[in-house]
Amino acid sequence: MQGFNKYYPPDFDGEKHGSLNSYRGKHALGDRARKLDQGILITRFELPFNIWCGTCNNHIGMGVRYNAEKKKIGNYYSTPIFSFRCKCHLCDAWFEIQTDPKNTRYVVTSGARQKDEDWNPEENGGFAVHDTEGSAAPIDPLAALEKTTDAQNHQTKVQVPRLESLMDVSERYNSDPYSLSLKARKHFRDDKKIRKEKEKSDTLVKDRYALPATLKLAEEDEDTIKEAREQWQKGREEIVHDSKRRKFAVETTSSIVPISSRSTNSTSKSSSSAVDSLRTRVLGNTAARRPQTITNSTSVKSRKFLLRDR
Ligand SMILES: [Zn+2]
Repeated sequence: MQGFNKYYPPDFDGEKHGSLNSYRGKHALGDRARKLDQGILITRFELPFNIWCGTCNNHIGMGVRYNAEKKKIGNYYSTPIFSFRCKCHLCDAWFEIQTDPKNTRYVVTSGARQKDEDWNPEENGGFAVHDTEGSAAPIDPLAALEKTTDAQNHQTKVQVPRLESLMDVSERYNSDPYSLSLKARKHFRDDKKIRKEKEKSDTLVKDRYALPATLKLAEEDEDTIKEAREQWQKGREEIVHDSKRRKFAVETTSSIVPISSRSTNSTSKSSSSAVDSLRTRVLGNTAARRPQTITNSTSVKSRKFLLRDR
């Protein structure tokens, strides 16, 4: 047994013995280190699960403690794997339990059987927590193939063209900013030139007819010209029609009035043709002046045309 006390005997020489343990020829761990030359340390080991002894077939409950021979038997990466060799307290047979660093658990390797009491979520209506192995092969190879083919088609038919078009647009806008700016400025200059010319011609027209400067004139395209021409023709036809009607009215009145004047004016029975013609002209003039007041809205030009046409 290792020295517990601090009694230093009179023959103790510090330089010679070094420590009290070496003075007494004992290991610091005492009797537990008796197999240390074989790499075995005796430790207290508690069963992590229920087992059945392989020799006497007795059930040994979880938590039973043994003086086990602990030994390093290997490595899992840098983690040492230990084995614990225990002697059954019921039949003196040996059983061995090892650590399993990969799965962070203990496994019975010999001399006993482990009672399988691990919680299985899938058996109890849950989902598997760990799937470290993974499915090696696809469940349905055809379905997997179809999936990959669909993905490939989507990439080649949708994603790649989309990316290419985006790159084209980017290239078009960013490749040569100088020429693009040149083009845009040229376009603006041409546009400005046209606008200035139009403003100039519009101002001329407005000045000529004393139109307000704020008045906006219509664009001179084919449609507006055609429409204006149609309006002009229509107005002209109306005027011609009116003048014809007036002429007819004058003729009828001139044929009636001389008769009535003849019937009323009995003194001038022998009226000469010169007087008749004069009367006709006078009446014609008054008849011609009357509709002029009616057609007051017609322009000066149309009036002139009316007089000329008559
Ligand atoms: Zn046993």
